[in-house]
Amino acid sequence: MFAPIYLDHNATTPLEPAVREAMLPWLSDQYGNASSRHEYGRSARRAIDVARSQVASAIGAHFSEIVFTSNGTEANNLFVKGAAACMKPGLLAVSAIEHPSVIKPAEQLARRGWQLHRLAVEHDGRVDAQSYETSLEAKPRLVSVMLANNETGVLQDVVALAAQAKAAGALFHSDAVQALGKIGIDFRSLGAAGVNALTLSSHKIGGPKGAAALVLDKRVEIEPLIAGGGQERGLRSGTENIAAIVGFGVACEMAARNLVAVTPRLIALRDQLESGLCAMGATLFGLGAGRLPNTTYFALDDVDGETLVSHLDRAGFAVASGAACSSANPEMSHVLRAMGVAPEQARGAVRVSLGAANTVAHVNDFLKTLQITVSKLLQLTAVAV
Ligand code: PLP
Repeated sequence: MFAPIYLDHNATTPLEPAVREAMLPWLSDQYGNASSRHEYGRSARRAIDVARSQVASAIGAHFSEIVFTSNGTEANNLFVKGAAACMKPGLLAVSAIEHPSVIKPAEQLARRGWQLHRLAVEHDGRVDAQSYETSLEAKPRLVSVMLANNETGVLQDVVALAAQAKAAGALFHSDAVQALGKIGIDFRSLGAAGVNALTLSSHKIGGPKGAAALVLDKRVEIEPLIAGGGQERGLRSGTENIAAIVGFGVACEMAARNLVAVTPRLIALRDQLESGLCAMGATLFGLGAGRLPNTTYFALDDVDGETLVSHLDRAGFAVASGAACSSANPEMSHVLRAMGVAPEQARGAVRVSLGAANTVAHVNDFLKTLQITVSKLLQLTAVAV
């Protein structure tokens, strides 16, 4: 089969071969239920415990702080709704650029008596300090600001934001789904600053789909979304997906181990890509802010992003227009809208997110193909006009 060059690692990543190997026994003869008292069950429980330690040590958390869920969406919902369920309705502040899995549950709470503040961001995508301070003066009970944005890759100064939230008496959650495996994360120091919970997801770091975690400060009380057999300290009932959890553990261990070697390579590839894009006159979103090493979000004048992505797909390159999770939705990216990007320019947005297997040749070929494709599209537009 013809395999396009994959440049969409913020959407999902290929399964690491070592992860797959580790998972295989749990998809064949190791089929025990971790709650069973016999040897099949006990070995499944041990496998989950190993994975829990691997996830915890990859981010400097304690074993007991990891709550496995089935995906990052569930972990975000668990924190936002679960923490709110233990409080009287009050003010909830989330950044305007959060993933829908934070924004939608926050909107659900707003329909149930909570007041929702959407924290404004500056043009470069970082939370606006003034808007944040104003929100904190109104004493929110819960604050959620992501560590790294999935579209732009822009990083937030979560340590400073959490410290301010703590001083204002709010619980602070950060969606670290895109940050995991791309920058170092230390839950101990984040926790000392005031971060009470983090969301992680396996399939963004070479692990399987079907496993994720809410990393939760044990002093924070939350209500489970799913009640039942009491798995995961009662916070996420349901028979565990052992193969996926085992894979997630190995993927975390590998990501933490490879971070130092992979990061400079990704930065070099991203710089190569971005200098090629600038030479073509592209606008790069989030420029000036600290960004993930692998993410470039750009637009070219008079070129529609959706059209460009489908032409690039046919030419053998897999990239995204806007957020992958919502690419069925033709609306303007809420992230770019919050950053004050004009709708005409936002319509052109295309995201390239690199991974460890990408090479200099991939980036060169992509830039050449992009140049040819864009010239063709501009000619077609000129003829149509
Ligand atoms: N948060 C961010 C920032 C994401 O990019 C995504 C997925 O793209 C999610 C949460 C949801 O994670 P999952 O795909 O594991 O549900």
